[in-house]
Amino acid sequence: MGPPSRSGFYVSRAVALLLAGLAAALLLALAVLASLYGRCARVPPSELRDRGAPAAAPSLPGKQEPASRPGPTPEPDAAASPPTWRPPGPWDQLRLPRWLVPLHYELELWPRLRPDDLSASALRFTGRVNITVRCTAATARLLLHSLFLDCERAEVHGPLSPDAGDATAGRSSVVETWFAVDMQYLVLELGEALQPGSLYELQLSFSGPVSQDTREGLFLNLYTDQGERRALLASQMEPTFARNVFPCFDEPALKATFNITIIHHPRYVALSNMPKLSQSEKEDVNGSKWTVTTFHTTPPMPTYLAAFVVCDYGHISRIERGKEIRIWARKDAIAEGNADFALNITGPIFSFLEDLFNISYPLPKTDIIALPTFDNRAMENWGLLIFDESLLLLQPNDKLTEKKIVISFTVSHEIGHQWFGNLVTMNWWNNIWLNEGFASYFEFGIINHFIPKFPRNEIFFFNILHGALREDHALVSRAVSVNVESFTETNEINELFDLFTYSKGASLARMLSSFLNEKIFIRALKSYLETFSYANAEQDDLWRHFQMAIDDQSKILLPATVKSIMDSWTHQSGFPVITLNVSTGVMKQEPFYLGKVKNQTLLTHNDTWIIPVLWIKNGTTQSLVWLDKSSKVFPEMQISDSDHDWVILNLNMTGYYRVNYDELGWKKLNQQLEKDPKAIPVIHRLQLVDDAFSLSKNDYIEIETALDLTKYLAEEDEIIVWHAVLMNLVTRDLVSDGNNYEIYPLLKKYLLKRLISIWNTYSTTIRENVTALQEDYLALILLEKVFGTACWLGLEDCLQLSRELFRNWMNHPENEIPNPIKNVILCYGIALGNDKEWDFLLKIYNNNTKEEERIQLAYAMSCSKDPWILNRYMDYAITVSPFTFNETNVIEAVAEASEVGRYVAKDFLINNWQAVSKRYGTQSLVTLLYVIGRTISTDSQILELQQFCSNMLEEHQRLTVQAKLQTIRNENLKGKERSARIAAWLRKNT
Ligand SMILES: [Zn+2]
Repeated sequence: MGPPSRSGFYVSRAVALLLAGLAAALLLALAVLASLYGRCARVPPSELRDRGAPAAAPSLPGKQEPASRPGPTPEPDAAASPPTWRPPGPWDQLRLPRWLVPLHYELELWPRLRPDDLSASALRFTGRVNITVRCTAATARLLLHSLFLDCERAEVHGPLSPDAGDATAGRSSVVETWFAVDMQYLVLELGEALQPGSLYELQLSFSGPVSQDTREGLFLNLYTDQGERRALLASQMEPTFARNVFPCFDEPALKATFNITIIHHPRYVALSNMPKLSQSEKEDVNGSKWTVTTFHTTPPMPTYLAAFVVCDYGHISRIERGKEIRIWARKDAIAEGNADFALNITGPIFSFLEDLFNISYPLPKTDIIALPTFDNRAMENWGLLIFDESLLLLQPNDKLTEKKIVISFTVSHEIGHQWFGNLVTMNWWNNIWLNEGFASYFEFGIINHFIPKFPRNEIFFFNILHGALREDHALVSRAVSVNVESFTETNEINELFDLFTYSKGASLARMLSSFLNEKIFIRALKSYLETFSYANAEQDDLWRHFQMAIDDQSKILLPATVKSIMDSWTHQSGFPVITLNVSTGVMKQEPFYLGKVKNQTLLTHNDTWIIPVLWIKNGTTQSLVWLDKSSKVFPEMQISDSDHDWVILNLNMTGYYRVNYDELGWKKLNQQLEKDPKAIPVIHRLQLVDDAFSLSKNDYIEIETALDLTKYLAEEDEIIVWHAVLMNLVTRDLVSDGNNYEIYPLLKKYLLKRLISIWNTYSTTIRENVTALQEDYLALILLEKVFGTACWLGLEDCLQLSRELFRNWMNHPENEIPNPIKNVILCYGIALGNDKEWDFLLKIYNNNTKEEERIQLAYAMSCSKDPWILNRYMDYAITVSPFTFNETNVIEAVAEASEVGRYVAKDFLINNWQAVSKRYGTQSLVTLLYVIGRTISTDSQILELQQFCSNMLEEHQRLTVQAKLQTIRNENLKGKERSARIAAWLRKNT
C-alpha cells in the first residue's frame, strides 16, 4: 500500500485541515464499522450460528453485542438471546490452524450494481467459491476467515483423486456451520475427519454487503462523469479485508492460484489481476441480462492481492516489452489527457526494475485505475493497481505544484511492490516492513534514475528520514520488526501500516545499502527475490542472502554478521545518538530520548546498536568505521584546536542516527561554515542544523551551540537548509505569541539581514519567471515557510509582493497566485487589506466547489486583523446564512490565525458558546480552549479559562481541559526559558 499519509511531503495548512477532516471521517467510518459489526453478529440463515466468544477470550468493545438481525431470514427469538457459549478452541487464536493448506480458488462474484439504479442503499453481492485444499492433519473442524458474509451453502468434497481433481468423488457431511465473529472465522463442523495428505474441495455460496462508507473489501464509489452520476465497484483487501468479500484463508503465507469470474451489468467492464479469458451472457430470474467475465489463472498469490473492479471507465494504453499497460480513469479525465503522465512513466519504471533485479514482471498485463475516492492512497494488487485519482492524474491546474513528483513517487512505490510484496511476500504481517520499507526505499532510486539532477539525499531526508527521527525514540515507539507472538487482535495488523513500517523501514534499507555499497546490496536482493519468488520470506531470510553476498567477496568486511548488525536496528525501538570527542577520538553511543533523561539507570533500554559510521574529514570521504560497542577510540578522527581540520560523521545522512560532537568539534564546524560554507555539502549543512536543534531541544547540547551554526546564513542559498533553520527558530508558538516582544525585534534584525539574499533570488523568480519553479521541487515544497517568515518579519518587499499578487488576482482572476506561496499571499492579502478584499474572497469561496480550496480560502479569511470583520465572519459561520463553512471550524481558524484573532475568538466564544457548540459539537469547545490557551504561562490565565469553561463543559471535560492547560503552561514556561536564552544570544550576535 502507499503510505497512509505522506508525512514527509509538504502539507500545507489547508491540506492539514483537510487531513484532520479525513481523520474525522475515519472516526465516523469506525463508528459505521462498529454498527456493521453488530449486524454481522446476527444469526444468519438456518443452520448458521454465531457462537460469540468464550467469556475468557480477549474481546473488543461492541463486538459481542447480542444479535441485531436484519436480513433475509430473521429469527425473532434469537434476537433477544446472547451468543451461544462456545468451548475454547482454535477459533480463539488469531492465526489459522495449519490443518489445511489452500492450493486454488475458483471464485465467482456477482455484485448487483446497475447503471440505471444508483440509489444503491443496500447494494449486495453474491458469490461462490470452490477452494482446493490439502489436508495436513486429520480434522473434522475447518476454519476459514469470513467477516460480514452470510454463508448460504457449505459442502466439502473429496478426497479428490490426485490427477483428475474430481470434485464429485466423495462428500463429507457438514454437520454444522457457525461463526466465531470476534475472531472473524467461519467454522465448518464435519461428520468425519478429513485425512492428512488428501486433497479436498470446499464449496461455499455466500453473500455480503458492498461497503458504502469505507474503502474496505468490495466498495462503492459514486462520482460524476460526462455530466451524469455514475458508480463503480472496486476492492481493497490488504491487510485483512479479503475475508469481507469471500470466505478464504486470509493470511499472507497461504498463497494459492485464483480463477476469477465476475458477473456484471453489460454496460460495465470488469477488471481483475489477470487478463480476460472469456465473456458470456447470463440471464437473472427477472430476465435481465448480465455479462460473465472470466479471467486467466493467477500465479500463486496471497488473498490480500486479489483485486476486482467493475466500472464504466475510459482507458489509454501502451505496450512495454510486449506487455500491455492500461491506465483507467473517468472518461472526462482520459479525454482531457490527465492520465497521460502516469502512462508515460509506468512502462519505463517497470523496465528499470526488471533490469535492476534481472527478474521479469511475471504477469501478462498491468492495469492501473484511478478512483474518485480511495482515501488518498494506492494499492499494489498484482496486475491491477488501484490509486486515488489525486495520486495518479495530473490536472491542468496542477502546473505549479509538486504533483508530478508525488505521482512519480506513488507509481514507483506501487510498481516496486510487484517484486517486494507480490512476487516475494513476508511470511506474516509482523514483517510488513519488508514490503513497505523496500518499496519506499526504491522510490528514490527510480526517480533518481529518471531525473539524475534530483536532490536524492535532501529529499529522502525531507520526505522520509526527518519524520522517522522525529517520531522514533527509545522506550516509546515500536520496533520495525514486531514479535509475532504479540498479536491478539486483527486490528493490530492494521495499525502496523505506520511511519515506522514505511519511513524507518526505508531508512534502514538505505543504511544497509550505504555500508554494503549499492552493488552488493542489489546482488543480495536479486538472489533473495529469485529464491523466494511466488513464496514467502522472513526477515532472517533476507539477512541470509545479504550474508551470502558479503561472504562472496573480500573487499567489504563487517564487524559482525548482517543479521546481528540489522537485528540491533529492527528489533529495538528508537535510534542512537553518537558523540565524537574530536580531541581524544573517543566515540560513544547512547539511546536518543525525548528530553534527555538525566538518570540513565532508571531506563530499561540497555541495548546498543552496531553502527556503521561513514564520515568526512575536510570534505574528503574516509573509510567506513564501526561503533559496535558503547564506546570506542578512533585516533584518525582526532583534531586539535590549532589546525584547520573539521570532521562530520554520517556521510549523506545514510545512517539512522543523530550525531553530536564535543565543544571543539562543533566549534571547528562552525568556523568552517563561516569561512567557506560551500566546502561542506548541502546535505551536511542541513544535517548540522537538524541534528543540533534536535539535540538542543532534548537537552543533549546547549541551544547556543545550535544558534552558532546559523551565523553564516547570509551565504546560504539552499532553500532546504533555510527551511530547517526556520522550522526550528520561527516556530508556530513563537509566531502566534503576542508576548514575543522581546525576541521578535531581535530575530527580525538577525534573520532579515541573512534572509535577504535567498529572498531576492526567489522573489525575482516569482515576479519574472514563475514557471522556472516547475523544475525546482524543493522550492515548490519549501517556499511557503521562507515567504511566510519574510512577511512575518515585516520584510517590506514581501508585504509589497503579497499586495501586488493579491490585487492582480482580484482584478484579473486569470492571474493565478503561484501555488507554492498561495497560502501566504492569500493570508497577507487579507491581513493587509480591508473588507473589500475580504468580501472578494468570500465570493470566491462561495463559488468554489473543491473542498481543499475552500478550506484554504476559509483559513485565509481568518487572517484579517480587523476585529469587526473577524466577528462578522464567526457570526456567519454559526448563524443560518448563505455560507456553509462546512469543512472548517471558523472560530478555531480565527483563534489560530493571529494574536488578534485569538482575543477576538475568545470573546466570541464566551458570548456564543452555546451556538458554537450546536454548530460544531461539544468537543469543538474543548479543542477551542486548547487553541485559545496555547500561549498561557500563568496560573491566573488558567483560572480565567477554567472559570469560563465551568459554564459550558461537563465535569469530565473540565478535568481534561484543566490537566491539558497545566501541561501547556509548563511547556510554555520551558519554551520561555529557551526563548530568553535565544534572545540573549541574539542580543550578543546582532
Ligand atoms: Zn506500499
